[in-house]
Amino acid sequence: MKILVINAGSSSLKYQLIDMETEQVLAKGLCERIGVDGKFSHKSVNGEVSKDVELKNHADAVENVIEALTDKEYGCVASLDEIAAVGHRVLTAGEKIYETVLITDEVKEIVRECIPLGPLHNPANLTGIEACEKAMPGIPQVAVFDTAFHHTMPEKAYLYGLPYEYYEKYGVRRYGFHGTSHRFVTQRTAKLLGKSVDEVNLITCHLGNGSSITAVKNGKCIDTTMGLTPLEGMLMGTRCGAIDPAIVCFIGEKEGLSYAEMDTLMNKKSGLLGVSGVGSDFRDVTKAWREGNHRAGVALEMFAYQCKKYIGSYYAALGGDVDAIVFTAGIGENDGRMRASIVEGLEGLGIKMDAELNAGKCVDKVVSTADSKIKILVVPTNEELMIAKDTAEIVENL
Ligand code: ADP
Repeated sequence: MKILVINAGSSSLKYQLIDMETEQVLAKGLCERIGVDGKFSHKSVNGEVSKDVELKNHADAVENVIEALTDKEYGCVASLDEIAAVGHRVLTAGEKIYETVLITDEVKEIVRECIPLGPLHNPANLTGIEACEKAMPGIPQVAVFDTAFHHTMPEKAYLYGLPYEYYEKYGVRRYGFHGTSHRFVTQRTAKLLGKSVDEVNLITCHLGNGSSITAVKNGKCIDTTMGLTPLEGMLMGTRCGAIDPAIVCFIGEKEGLSYAEMDTLMNKKSGLLGVSGVGSDFRDVTKAWREGNHRAGVALEMFAYQCKKYIGSYYAALGGDVDAIVFTAGIGENDGRMRASIVEGLEGLGIKMDAELNAGKCVDKVVSTADSKIKILVVPTNEELMIAKDTAEIVENL
């Protein structure tokens, strides 16, 4: 069975075609600058192509994806009939849907109703879905929600200390994001530890451009750092993470900024970029720090310190009963120095890093010492495979 996975963003569309029998990626690619001008790159087991092409909207992008997948030279399927289903990454359906579902008109309506909770992503996800429905009639379309894994959080973890009416009226609560990634590494870690998923207690650290940390008890999320939106939690590439909420009014008033401008400031101009003044990419900030840039060094220290504090708080939330701390995503998988800084000083909690095992990029590997009470693992995430597996399960049961 071949599943096409679509991840539609506001101006981009990423895709992968996965063979479910072998879990091999047959093709993957990226449509960029949709609605601006257009750039398309595609790589399959048979060849690759990269070109500037007009992408007026997501429908144009999907058309290019289909052409590339079926191309005689660099394609990998003879016809679209070989594709059993399309799995879409969808940001949120609020509290209304959290399980993977076959997309119907009703599902699309709910995703549309939840646009206020995901103003950038939900509209793009819908456009991606509708473009695929049109281009591939009859092929089942499935939605996998980014918030899904976190729906098991108890009220005490997801409610904010605000008047309850805003939860009832507008759904203001913690939803959490990167759910597909946290779920993938939870399942993979359970396997690596030789346990069943419902037996593992973990602290999963997804450290990438966006970063979030999740406390997992018996395989289920009990708390996570991102909130109503992906802005809460750790300092990230361009996002400030958790700050004193009064700062919003303070800076807004001083600088005469509107809510929308404050939102941009916190989402796009803060984090590693805002503190270091160098950039949002971890490698650029690290390079600047090595060259003696003080603010770059402080930004990296803040990153490690904040992650350490969340690990400590989730250790408490789990009552100290933690099997492993898991690092994943761009920074978590590749940057051994950062992983070491994060867990440094946690030996008293039974968390001991093995410097030799931890060096460099690690794949599905235990990097703690043999006597570390809590193991430390590096597990590469694979959200696309998770989406494809969920999608396959839905279509197998149709
Ligand atoms: P996203 O999927 O959220 O865009 P990724 O998971 O790809 O993000 O992570 C991107 C981040 O990972 C960037 O900040 C990048 O600098 C960092 N990164 C990627 N490779 C390395 C590496 N080898 N060492 C350190 N950081 C890395």
